[in-house]
Amino acid sequence: MNKQEIFKKKLLSWSIKNTREYSWRNTEDPWKILLLEVIAQQTQLERANKYYQKFIKKFPNPNEMSKATKKEILGMWSGLGYNSRAVRLHEASKILSKNSFDSIYPEFDILPGVGEYTKNAILSFAYNDKVIAQDTNVLRIFSRFFGTKDPQKFILENQKNILKNIKSRKFNQVLMDFGSKICTSKNPSCSVCVFDNECEKFIQARPNPQPAFKGSDREIRGKIIKHLIVNNNVDISSLNILIKTEENKLKHILKKLESEGMITIKNKKLIEINS
Ligand code: SF4
Repeated sequence: MNKQEIFKKKLLSWSIKNTREYSWRNTEDPWKILLLEVIAQQTQLERANKYYQKFIKKFPNPNEMSKATKKEILGMWSGLGYNSRAVRLHEASKILSKNSFDSIYPEFDILPGVGEYTKNAILSFAYNDKVIAQDTNVLRIFSRFFGTKDPQKFILENQKNILKNIKSRKFNQVLMDFGSKICTSKNPSCSVCVFDNECEKFIQARPNPQPAFKGSDREIRGKIIKHLIVNNNVDISSLNILIKTEENKLKHILKKLESEGMITIKNKKLIEINS
């Protein structure tokens, strides 16, 4: 299984017990999706959901909102902040009261206040197009897992393959939940994450394992010194038999010990420990 398949498979199995349920997650109505996405910008999802319920009840379609006054919209928006979002949504509803979503598909970014992310959210959630809606959470997950410095480019190049054989709306929801619960911006929960050895960030953060001691320079040095403590004028060739290592490696270690002032090598043959 390649890395992209592992990513997809493990996230989907994680989602079985971890999906957050909201009514708008089961809709394919682009108006409801647009409404939710605009309300949810820079707003915590639980709070956005409360406003969404209020708005969708009053304005079940763009036509209803287009008939409302700006003052009425801003009154309902009160407490969410970024009032310009409400004004642009109102303007979008006027356009949509005369032009259906289908008639402007896929160019939803001609609507006021609709950028690349919201456009892709509508394309995915309402039309099940093979696109990944890239918000900061999603970019962070891709950047960490695949170890890419340009997650935007990576997603554009690979989204069709990643979304092959699955519903893009489902996968986009899983990414949102995973970014908000596990792979958070600060202190990601790597210890309980479904990924460990597959995630580039996790691999890079892992401390380097201690080099194996057996056969290491450290072990050979220890053996040489131990032998020299109880024997004087040791013949290098006999040491070779005792240590059982490559000749060049042994020579290298002896030179190092000599340069550190630990031993003396006489006539390139005999060695003893320095007093
Ligand atoms: S191992 Fe950590 S950094 Fe990697 S995907 Fe999981 S939570 Fe994110």
